Amino acid sequence: MTTSLFENTETAFEYQSTPALQKAKFLFQLFGNNTLVSLGTSATNIALSLHLPISSLFKITVFNHFCGGENFVECTKTIQFLSTFNVGSMLNYGVELKETEADFEKTILQTLESISFAGKNKHVKSICIKLTGFGRFGLFEKMDRKEVLSNTEEQELQGIKNRFERLCAAAKEYDVVLYVDAEESWIQDALDGLVEEMMEKYNQQKAVVFNTVQLYRNDRLAFLEQSIITAKSKGYFYGVKIVRGAYMEKERERAIEMGYPSPIHIDKPATDKDFNAGMQLCFTNLDIVTVCVASQSEESNLLAISLIDDMNIARNHPNILFAQLLGMGDNITFNMAKAGFNVCKYLPYGPVKEVIPYLIRRAQENTSVQGQMGRELKLILTELARRKKTRC
Ligand SMILES: Cc1cc2nc3c(=O)[nH]c(=O)nc-3n(C[C@H](O)[C@H](O)[C@H](O)COP(=O)(O)OP(=O)(O)OC[C@H]3O[C@@H](n4cnc5c(N)ncnc54)[C@H](O)[C@@H]3O)c2cc1C
Repeated sequence: MTTSLFENTETAFEYQSTPALQKAKFLFQLFGNNTLVSLGTSATNIALSLHLPISSLFKITVFNHFCGGENFVECTKTIQFLSTFNVGSMLNYGVELKETEADFEKTILQTLESISFAGKNKHVKSICIKLTGFGRFGLFEKMDRKEVLSNTEEQELQGIKNRFERLCAAAKEYDVVLYVDAEESWIQDALDGLVEEMMEKYNQQKAVVFNTVQLYRNDRLAFLEQSIITAKSKGYFYGVKIVRGAYMEKERERAIEMGYPSPIHIDKPATDKDFNAGMQLCFTNLDIVTVCVASQSEESNLLAISLIDDMNIARNHPNILFAQLLGMGDNITFNMAKAGFNVCKYLPYGPVKEVIPYLIRRAQENTSVQGQMGRELKLILTELARRKKTRC
């Protein structure tokens, strides 16, 4: 497989009008500037804390590029549009880091609605959730440290389990896949425990509940291996989304601050090596594993393609899905969909001000990751130049 598959910018951006591409070019040029992004992040945080009306500015810029919409009606347009290119959608109600029971209840109702919406829309077969949307971060930290919980905290935990179970039951009923996102390493053991419990219960016939494994962590390849062994020995199907991981700076800073060894790989090649090994491991266990390869890396996706072809696995094997974030990796998404693979876009949606942490993470991720934003910008510039030439 040559890299030329992903160099086809005509297919990659077929769905974008030239004015939309020009807007995207401006956005990525802005993101390419580290100073601007950090100034923008601080200014946004200040504006949010002062309750300044910054939503409209966000909506016409970053939000429209990276999010499906504010509600189902807006999302439906994006979903339909993507489906015309054989690209599915993975919905995520992008609300994060809530702290009160009322907020958790609001998020769960919204997520239940998105599950039933997905159940009725054949182009949305999966929903992503963050367990920190349904329970207090501090409680997850305490669970992760294996500290004894007070009676009130035990009740709180029961509340989280009940909410999570309502989602799993709805996902099963509507035949929708439920992906649980991976978050900070210092709460991840607590999250993994909850997800494994639900997998054992809901994945008896097929994978309904999926965990996420971040392979930028130096212990996660072993964790992935062990999770597959556990699923085999307990007799349930193992659903997993593999990612590199989105919290690298935060993880490293905390490790330095608190004086423990960083859980993150020493460098990018080490992360890549484990990500690719994790992918291969999943492909060799498709009798029990369903995997979502969630990555914008051209190298990893090309490797996936050659592994699948070399192992004589059908390109549209129901146990393999590829996913990229909306607004990124279009050259991978649309070219792979055209080549017959199961591909979808991760579509966050929700009120603009609630999705801002996600948008800030996208901006930071892209300035901090060497090459990524350059790659997006380069592709857009290539396509704009191609269109200009074909018009002449
Ligand atoms: C559908 C989908 C779902 C996602 N769900 C989650 C989730 O649940 N949890 C989560 O954390 N993230 C999630 N992500 C985000 C994902 O982790 C980032 O998009 C991803 O890290 C970007 O990497 P990449 O695979 O696209 O490839 P690349 O752009 O090749 O790799 C960039 C990544 O490599 C790693 N890296 C970069 N430099 C170094 C270094 N010096 N040392 C070690 N590692 C390095 C970092 O993880 C960085 O983000 C999701 C992404 C998608 C597409």
